[in-house]
Amino acid sequence: MQKVYITETCLSCGIEFGITKERQEQLRKNHKKYYCPNGHNQWYTGEHEAEKLSRQLEAERAQSARLSRMADYQRKQAESYKGHLTRLKNKMERQEND
Ligand SMILES: [Zn+2]
Repeated sequence: MQKVYITETCLSCGIEFGITKERQEQLRKNHKKYYCPNGHNQWYTGEHEAEKLSRQLEAERAQSARLSRMADYQRKQAESYKGHLTRLKNKMERQEND
């Protein structure tokens, strides 16, 4: 029986290497680590792990949106303080000129 090779790309160094289809199926099922020809760890994440990662990503996106809203709010506050300060300065200068 002829072996079918599948080309994999190392996530660390980008090297392309072939593994047999059987080996890939095994690895997909057991999520065991294997190595690229340069010795970098590789493994297939299971469905469960992929879901976990995507939830994590979602949470991080929400967090970053929150932070960006907070930064926005603080920028607006700073602008409003600056405006307030400018008005006060103008008022003081007017009073000095009076
Ligand atoms: Zn590698």
